[in-house]
Amino acid sequence: MKALLSRDAETMRPSPIRDLAKLAADPDIISLAGSQPSEEAFPLEEIREVLAGLVAKLPARALQYGLTKGDDELRDVALKMMARRGIEASREEVILTNGSQRALDLIGRVLIDPGDAVITEMPTYTGAIACFRNLRARLLGVPQDEDGMRIDKLERVIAKARVEGLDLKLLYLIPTFQNPSGATLSPERRKELIEIAERENLLILEDDPYSELFFDEQPPASPVASLSSDRVLYLSSFSKILAPGLRTAFLRGPQELIKIIEQAAQASDLSAGTLDQRLILELCHSGVMRRSIDNARVFYRKQRDVQLAGLEEFMPAGITWNVPRGGFFTWVKLPEAINSEALLQGAIKQGVLFVPGPHFFVDGSGSDTLRLCFSEQPAKKLRQGVASLATAVRFYDLPSTIPWALGECC
Ligand SMILES: *Cc1c(COP(=O)(O)O)cnc(C)c1O
Repeated sequence: MKALLSRDAETMRPSPIRDLAKLAADPDIISLAGSQPSEEAFPLEEIREVLAGLVAKLPARALQYGLTKGDDELRDVALKMMARRGIEASREEVILTNGSQRALDLIGRVLIDPGDAVITEMPTYTGAIACFRNLRARLLGVPQDEDGMRIDKLERVIAKARVEGLDLKLLYLIPTFQNPSGATLSPERRKELIEIAERENLLILEDDPYSELFFDEQPPASPVASLSSDRVLYLSSFSKILAPGLRTAFLRGPQELIKIIEQAAQASDLSAGTLDQRLILELCHSGVMRRSIDNARVFYRKQRDVQLAGLEEFMPAGITWNVPRGGFFTWVKLPEAINSEALLQGAIKQGVLFVPGPHFFVDGSGSDTLRLCFSEQPAKKLRQGVASLATAVRFYDLPSTIPWALGECC
């Protein structure tokens, strides 16, 4: 079989997070490693009602092949959603895709040749790392702080890439409530990034699944895409605000590029699912989506608070974390003496999972960090999970011991 595989297939790797998901199926293990929305946050009853109404009057057209660029009416809904977030666009600049993940692949296919450079935040989304790696891009990571990607470090990465003669194409960003760090890029840096993209002839790909899920009174900083229409591809999804099984995302970009992406989509999947799109449209028109987003904000803020309270209560000194203002994740920093991959082995013995930092760093660094998800687990398990993690961490407080070897004998 191996002889039949393409070179691309040989470089593909299973997602390490999916491997953890196998362990997470054990009922005795609490997983803070996942990244799914909570099923409790789905407006299930309302979706059932809308779906029943839709079934009763289902037009045959909803079962037909759809437009590759997506349903016209749903694209108009996407335009309205973007307008509320400060982004002006026209229908011709928008395409609907089978989730954001498909859009990442399509964008990669039309922009990246093997060896081309893609700049990412460090840490960044594992799904994007996998996608760009499969396209054999060179991934260049730029460290973040609590205000997002560091511009001084970005300048250095660009300068080095130019010296090496790399073809720089794309700057991939999750500027708001980042996965995995929870950080939000400051408004000043958003402006600076546009200037750099102009100067360096780069496209920015802004992946924004979480900006509606803010926990404070104010919505977060306006999207990077609100500052420029020709330098930024803006990608957002219904997955985290409605339900990911509906597999629908929207992408806005320069019309010329969207046309080419549409051609790539034609050869890839003909169109996004027409029935999914029709259901989302009904959920928007009937106000279910609006209410779902309002409820999700309250729901996930409570989840975050439970996790943060657990960290405060149980974690020994020396461990620090951010206070996420939206999204699904808390980012934890360990003292240098603790390696997060080793800590995971100890944590599994205590019955808890998380994702070690290096999975999110394109250069394999980040071993003193880890990601905790607060979206999925019910409150009691969130708290217990953090307590168990703290127990695993405490093994390191014992002087001159090999931490998880201790776990083995207990
Ligand atoms: C969840 C997530 C996605 C995937 O979204 P889909 O629309 O379900 O494919 C993309 N990017 C980031 C940063 C995510 O966290």
